[in-house]
Amino acid sequence: MARSYYIHTFGCQMNESDSQRMGEALARAGWQQILAPDAADLVLVNTCSIREKAEDKLFSALGRYRLLKAQRGTRIGVAGCVAQQEKEKLLQRAPFVDFVLGPDHLDEVPRLAEQGGVATDFLDTEEYLFPQADPETSRGRATAFVTAMKGCDNVCSFCVVPYTRGREVSRPYAELVREVASLVAVGVREVTLIGQNVNSYSGGCTFAELIRRVAAVPGLLRIRFTTSHPMDLSPELTRAFHEVPQLMPHFHLPVQHGADSVLQRMRRKYTIAEYERRIAELPRDLSLTSDIIVGFPGETEGEHAQNLAFLARTAFDNLFSFLYSPRPHTGALLKLAEWGEIPRPLALRRLGEVQALQMARTNERRRARLGGEVEVLVESPGFGRSRENWAVHFEGDAAVGDLVRVRVQGTSLVALRGAQEAVVVKAPVFEPPARRRLSVVNA
Ligand code: SF4
Repeated sequence: MARSYYIHTFGCQMNESDSQRMGEALARAGWQQILAPDAADLVLVNTCSIREKAEDKLFSALGRYRLLKAQRGTRIGVAGCVAQQEKEKLLQRAPFVDFVLGPDHLDEVPRLAEQGGVATDFLDTEEYLFPQADPETSRGRATAFVTAMKGCDNVCSFCVVPYTRGREVSRPYAELVREVASLVAVGVREVTLIGQNVNSYSGGCTFAELIRRVAAVPGLLRIRFTTSHPMDLSPELTRAFHEVPQLMPHFHLPVQHGADSVLQRMRRKYTIAEYERRIAELPRDLSLTSDIIVGFPGETEGEHAQNLAFLARTAFDNLFSFLYSPRPHTGALLKLAEWGEIPRPLALRRLGEVQALQMARTNERRRARLGGEVEVLVESPGFGRSRENWAVHFEGDAAVGDLVRVRVQGTSLVALRGAQEAVVVKAPVFEPPARRRLSVVNA
């Protein structure tokens, strides 16, 4: 009987994509995925270390899986950013874990599952091969992630990613375009190009050229990408937003703070004036979203006021705002005593102010669509995303992969609600789902 595995994925789209690649490697070695951990022979936890809270979640999940191990000998593996950050130390803290693997070793998961051990060294740029996606995994789905690059060469002082994901490596464009074509052939209509700093892509062409090459794949309806650094927003990429119809009008461009002095301590390499100049060139109907860190070390009331003023004058469609979280191996942690830690109650008050401001704006922008139409790519029955990447729940009989027009009848902070008006493009007829279907559970 085939052995079974369960993957528990924390964190970002890169992790979701890595979980798929590890699932495919396990499937090639004869393992079968199950969707609950209780009966699994192997539990693999794919981790995130962007904030302390994410790390805490890993250890509470491991506490639960430890009981399974005691009851039925389940093997336990830890992958992702905490694995890379902690390496062998993770085995000291959680000795019941059988193996630890970093993001450069996804294909080794079947070997490690058998033998145990630690694989966390970074491969040289020349040696690194991007794991190839198995298109069968995406058969019957409307959307897929496609890895464009990995790692990050920036040194933002709050961020552990350069330490956990290593230097930037871009995937050759021909290989990537081939993967997109193979996904379209099994019914995928939208791809999201992913990388820690995706718009600094350099796999044989610029990122804007990559988008144009991907857009030329017949049958592909939509392209998105994430995540980007403002300094790598080139005029060419801005032009692509104006000229490439498949490139959706949504751009997640993390600004992190609205005060230049904080941006400098964060080592973000731009000023607010530069950020504003760049976004002013983007199409007017584009939905801009961003990240903000509140309570960064040394943040004064004056800097917080500048942050609020910037947010008030910038038409972000949505904002992901977080409290600063000290991370190991980062510049800000080294300077914490010098710059001064912001007391939690004060940081929470400021976060509340940022969120209240943005919530009002997001609500207002959603409500402005009431009564109008949005174009939705159907991801599951009655659910899809608009061109701006808004979640849309609708009544209607459209199939997965159809592109439909939906009349908006209600809104909330997280989604629009409406009724299907018409099918714009029918989904291709799918063959029956392949035997090896994978899906992952997010926390
Ligand atoms: S650009 Fe900065 S925030 Fe983004 S992954 Fe690199 S170091 Fe982290």
